[in-house]
Amino acid sequence: MSARAGIVVTGTEVLTGRVSDRNGPWLSDRLRELGVDLAHISIVGDRPQDMRAALAFMAEQRMDLVLTSGGLGPTADDLTAEVVGDFQGREMVLDEQLEQQIAEVVRPLMTRWPGLDVAAIELGTRKQATIPAGATILEPIGTAPGLVVPPQQNAAGPTIVALPGPPRELQPMWERAVQTEALRAAVCGATTYRQRMLRLFGMPESEIAETLRAAGREGVELDRLEITTCLKRGEIEVVTRYEPDSESVYDAFAQIVAERHSDALFSDDGSTIDDQIATLLDRRTIATAESCTGGLLAARLTDRAGSSRYVKGAIVAYSNEVKVAQAGVAPELIERHGAVSAEVAQALAEGARERLGADLGVGVTGIAGPDGGSEDKPVGLVWLTVAGPGDATMTRSVHLPGGRADVRDRATTVAMHMLRRALLGA
Ligand code: ATP
Ligand code: MG
Repeated sequence: MSARAGIVVTGTEVLTGRVSDRNGPWLSDRLRELGVDLAHISIVGDRPQDMRAALAFMAEQRMDLVLTSGGLGPTADDLTAEVVGDFQGREMVLDEQLEQQIAEVVRPLMTRWPGLDVAAIELGTRKQATIPAGATILEPIGTAPGLVVPPQQNAAGPTIVALPGPPRELQPMWERAVQTEALRAAVCGATTYRQRMLRLFGMPESEIAETLRAAGREGVELDRLEITTCLKRGEIEVVTRYEPDSESVYDAFAQIVAERHSDALFSDDGSTIDDQIATLLDRRTIATAESCTGGLLAARLTDRAGSSRYVKGAIVAYSNEVKVAQAGVAPELIERHGAVSAEVAQALAEGARERLGADLGVGVTGIAGPDGGSEDKPVGLVWLTVAGPGDATMTRSVHLPGGRADVRDRATTVAMHMLRRALLGA
């Protein structure tokens, strides 16, 4: 049996969607690496009764470990330490050494902003240094210390780890939490799970369901694998979790997927299409001329260290004038075939390649909507060309579903997969 955990994300800004939760997913990955089985994530606002109810739910679900994020700051609305202390039946006590330590961190701020209310700051520091008796302190990254708060001796219930809200504080503090005796005691005996991922492109998700049935028929013990599939940016991700002694069961399953979907399967080692393009380009250079994607493909290609070695640049050619003047598209082509056409996609790709002096050029032109579509050229129609390497060119049209953002994003994914094929010479 592996240890079970829950996460309580606090903060009215997260609850209302003004800030999207980055801590739940990040901690979820870390728990998996530890071999801890995450069962629930709750998001609550900054109200003590709601936070208490979330903790009570987690305890009722027999969690060994509960992680909280947020509400450890110095102001009166930061209530996590108090609520957690109360929930664990532990008195709140001032830790003078911690108070000193936080004061040290805050001092430079006071000299930088001389107008600050010193009494209020001292009160805040005192509040942050007031912690549940018996808690293990996690050294502050900013000013907020984290806490590992076990249940009372001989009492049932989860160990609660309180972490600060800002991800840049929470992440390094989690590394500290993992080192503590208190956390180790809560998760001891956990099995380590393995997790592997397959990525596929260019087939419907329903095909995977059929492949699962086929694997079952062929005798793969699917009950030893926890398989989840999800559709992300037009790609299918198949994530499988299993105990180490089921490795051969996973291999048999992965083999069947590879046989049935050899065309669609592009990654069996967790690598993304973006990773693969960076590797496949090798020393070759690339440039884009983009209409409907407005430079998003270039943004994607440049979103990694070292990309300045192979990405030459992009022409964002939104208007017809710019397609002609900057990307070198012949005006007759636009007149004869329209701006959203195979011919213009091709001319954009060639133009990017020539004008920016790259080995490969990509042209994208389409209708991202919501208006601007017509009967023969509906919203979601996108033409793409990859010119290169060498004399090869590949032109394709797709009809992408969804709103403007989806069409633009999915178009960049299609372009990345065309690039992969072009670079593999397929
Ligand atoms: P602080 O001392 O900064 O107040 P805190 O531990 O009290 O720290 P919160 O007040 O809950 O943390 O959050 C501070 C800020 O951190 C939020 O305004 C938000 O910008 C960011 N933040 C908090 N929780 C999350 C989250 N789950 N995902 C992403 N960002 C978050
Ligand atoms: Mg706060």
